Amino acid sequence: HIRNLVKRFDSPDSPGQSVFAVRSANLEVKPGELVTLLGPSGCGKTTLLRMVAGFEEPTSGDILFGDRRMNEVAPNRRDAAMVFQSYAIFPHLSVYENVVFGLRLKKLSADEIKKRADRVLAISGLTHMATRSPNQLSGGQQQRVALARAIIMEPRVLLFDEPLSNLDAKLRDQMRVEIRELQQRLGITTLYVTHDQIEAMSISDRIVVMNSGVIEQIGTPREVYAHPATRFVAEFIGKANFLNATVRDGQTIDVAGVPVPYVNQANAGDQLTVVLRPEAIALSDQGGDFPATVKRAMFLGNIAEYLIEVDGVGEWLVDSPNPGESGLFQPGSRVFATPSRAALHALS
Ligand code: ADP
Ligand code: MG
Repeated sequence: HIRNLVKRFDSPDSPGQSVFAVRSANLEVKPGELVTLLGPSGCGKTTLLRMVAGFEEPTSGDILFGDRRMNEVAPNRRDAAMVFQSYAIFPHLSVYENVVFGLRLKKLSADEIKKRADRVLAISGLTHMATRSPNQLSGGQQQRVALARAIIMEPRVLLFDEPLSNLDAKLRDQMRVEIRELQQRLGITTLYVTHDQIEAMSISDRIVVMNSGVIEQIGTPREVYAHPATRFVAEFIGKANFLNATVRDGQTIDVAGVPVPYVNQANAGDQLTVVLRPEAIALSDQGGDFPATVKRAMFLGNIAEYLIEVDGVGEWLVDSPNPGESGLFQPGSRVFATPSRAALHALS
């Protein structure tokens, strides 16, 4: 539970100035939940995570695990384990010794260490590599060692800072499925940091979208995608078109003189900025709401990605499903764009 958490650093560039890495963060993570901090580089994700871990002291605000305030508790007594992008595994120790490192420090009995290690090595798929040295492992295997070393501590809270950034795309997809399955199986409350929106969408119960030290929105992947709270969220999670619209009545908005069905709450005369996702626009050469010209067309296999210039409105991105190679509208073609009825969401 994070309350009004602030972190101010002295600016490394201009003496006397300060940088607010985290402005005033409020967040409650439920037991067993996986919550992702998502945002561009420099938005404060690592700083927030490090405060939870105890590596960084908050300027103000509170961190609680359950009812217990953690601010003054040393990192090694917080019952939190962290997995880093750099893995931070010890090159001179075997896989087995890396994994049990924390347990040895805790002075557990040899029996207990062996029992826990066997189990964690098995669930991490490392049993047959236990005696190897880290330089005999692939990047994915090294990340598994780092993960095993964290979960063997049976922490109350698991913290990940961009754990997959050093892996290639295919392995990253595979590892995020593994991390999610393991986290759910063990039911460990988890805070996960990434700048990758697809990664966040695919593994999270909820996503915290951050921008310049500020939490812009907290919601399930579906909520932040379908109902972005701000322009920043709409653009950071997926692609978005923004339409200036005026509300006509309870069922319709006006976009450049064209009535568009709109089912949400609004008052006649209100000016809205409406988010329209590229996949919620149908293109046709037969007819539709908005006449337009195709400026760019890309065949991407499962979809075609278009940039169109809508007459009197401006540019829209459009994603069309399953275009046959021959069904692609070529640049210069005249088309009609029709937004789907339920897909419009107004920014507040
Ligand atoms: P992210 O992990 O989202 O990339 P960080 O939490 O690392 O962002 O950084 C947030 C902001 O705080 C950045 O502007 C960064 O330059 C600044 N910052 C982070 N650590 C320090 C530090 N030790 N001293 C000064 N500024 C810092
Ligand atoms: Mg970071």
